[in-house]
Amino acid sequence: MPVFAHPEFDHHQQLVFGSDAESGLRAIIAIHDTHRGPALGGLRIYPYANEEAALTDVLRLSRGMSYKSAIADLPLGGGKAVIIADPRTEKTPALLRAMGRLVESLGGAYITAEDSGSSEADMQMIASETAHVGGLRRASGESGDPSPFTAWGVFCALKSAVRHGLGRDDLEGLRVAIQGVGHVGAHLARHLHAAGARLVLTDVNREALAHLAETLGAETVAPEAIFDAEVDLFAPCAMGAVLTDAVVDRLRAKVVCGAANNQLAAPDIAERLMARGILYTPDYVANAGGVIEIAWQRRDDYDRSSVMAHIEGVGATLDKLFARAAREEVSPTLIADAMARERFGRG
Ligand code: NAD
Repeated sequence: MPVFAHPEFDHHQQLVFGSDAESGLRAIIAIHDTHRGPALGGLRIYPYANEEAALTDVLRLSRGMSYKSAIADLPLGGGKAVIIADPRTEKTPALLRAMGRLVESLGGAYITAEDSGSSEADMQMIASETAHVGGLRRASGESGDPSPFTAWGVFCALKSAVRHGLGRDDLEGLRVAIQGVGHVGAHLARHLHAAGARLVLTDVNREALAHLAETLGAETVAPEAIFDAEVDLFAPCAMGAVLTDAVVDRLRAKVVCGAANNQLAAPDIAERLMARGILYTPDYVANAGGVIEIAWQRRDDYDRSSVMAHIEGVGATLDKLFARAAREEVSPTLIADAMARERFGRG
């Protein structure tokens, strides 16, 4: 398995492979860049088919965090961690404590947080071994789960994308398809419903889908049919690499804006979307709300209105980014990537 020559390697500063015989821990911590500050990124616990899949995932996600934190103007670098394990059956206190010791061994260069497969309770367990944990509930009960903040950021991003892509300032009657109504997607659906949008929802979890759709009076479709929905906007809020050549050809929406990380299946999809006249919102710009809130937790002057104002800044950032992309006739992704790289000193 090549590491330095891995297609996603992108000059990561540090890669740490950790193992612990007693708990069965097999983990990788990837630190992409620390020029702006310590590398913050979530811990994903997933039963990867093999080590290569875990390495590819951690490298891609870690690099994405450098871009996300830089664009959101946070004093943080990019990193990520994965544990190769099934979170439903293999997540034990011993495993999490061993992970905590691995994080601690890096002396604060990497700060961990929740991600898919890891919960706030898991972070509490990890925090018994290391202080380098973000996303813990504050005593005031102000925060914990980052997804409401992420969803609010996506909602602000979506309003900017609608202004630029559809030339309208309100969401009344806007038709929106949401793929995945989990933590972020469900919050986003409620914001959109409150703003008067008409929703088409899908999820592989039929029960959760039916419940939300009934509450919001939304239409539902089968997972595979979401790409063909007659909508103005498509919001991917399930998994990465969803925008493939075939999907781009099928989309009826004129705007894409959602929470999922790494939505583009390949870098050239950004140009393909543009060629089809679809305005694509770079995912790491739109979904930064959660990391913005976690960054605020590290400050002594945390207050909710400042956090929300920072998250709402996602909309202003996108306004500038979309305008510049239109002027220069390039994809918003190209502009965002260049801006982010400049900010972490790799311009
Ligand atoms: P989640 O696991 O709570 O929700 C994902 C939902 O997608 C689930 O309900 C799942 O059943 C559904 N799903 C999975 N495969 C699907 C498919 N093929 N078709 C339709 N639905 C499918 O995750 P989340 O926390 O809501 O995050 C959603 C996405 O946003 C993820 O890609 C995540 O990496 C990204 N993200 C989340 C946050 C956050 O704060 N939670 C922050 C940044 C990015």
